[in-house]
Parts: sequence; C-alpha cells; structure tokens
Amino acid sequence: MAADAIPLRTRLVPAMARGFIGRCPHCGQGRIFGRFLKVRPECDACGLELHHHRADDLPPYVVIFIVAHIVGYLILETESAYEVPLWVEMGVWPAFTLLFALILLQPVKGAVVGLQYALGMDGFATLPRSRPTPGSEETRLAAAAAGAPDRHRL
Ligand SMILES: [Zn+2]
Repeated sequence: MAADAIPLRTRLVPAMARGFIGRCPHCGQGRIFGRFLKVRPECDACGLELHHHRADDLPPYVVIFIVAHIVGYLILETESAYEVPLWVEMGVWPAFTLLFALILLQPVKGAVVGLQYALGMDGFATLPRSRPTPGSEETRLAAAAAGAPDRHRL
C-alpha cells in the first residue's frame, strides 16, 4: 500500500462542517442520512461505518439551546419595539420555533456525528480501509486472486 493511500482522520472542524451539510465526515462525498434523522449504516463512498454513532439526545439539546436563545431575543426585541397583538404572537412564535428547530435538527445531528468521528469515539476509533484505485497494483492483485486475466501481462 502506498503511503498516500493510508486514510487520515479528518480534523474536528472540517468533520463537523461536513456532517452539518449531511456529508460523510471522513470523505465529504457520501451522504450520511438515509431519511430525515436516520443515519446510514455506512458511507457509500468511502465505506466508513456510521452505525457506531451515539448522537442520542445531544442534537435536540443543542437545537433547543440555539433556538431558545434566538427566539427569546426576538420576542424580547419585538415586545420592546412594537405593539403586536397577543393573538399574533401566540400564533407566530410557536410556529417559528417549531420550524426553526426542524430545520436545524438534521444539520446539528450531522455535526454531532462528525464530532464523534473526529474524536474517535465509540466505533469511530478505526478508519475505513482505503479502496484501491482502478489500475493500481492492489486492483490487479485482487483481480488475479479472483481468477480474472491480468491484462498487463498479456
Ligand atoms: Zn465517506
């Protein structure tokens, strides 16, 4: 195996940023979510096993922390600057809070998975094997072991 084929662990901030946009924290190519909050068992691009993640309750806690601070600030500013009828506020703020939380939940969960990957927590202690590129020595050896004719020797 060539030295450049050894997979290196992505650093913390890029891994969390990749997770935030729904991409694999290791390669940045594969998608980590199969459904809204369902993490795929492994990355379809690099093979990183993602089923080890233990995001659990951290993403909702982080989302509540962010949304509550922003919505609380906006309510306070609105109350002090405008005279908005109570029935309007009773309709707008809960809807805005719910929508904002739903929008943030998947990216925050992806960032938490990226955090766990970058810190090597749980099953993320091992990295995926690098896949051999077509035409490389590893590919030819694997093909020869499988019984395929070696085109380079013909
Ligand atoms: Zn990947």
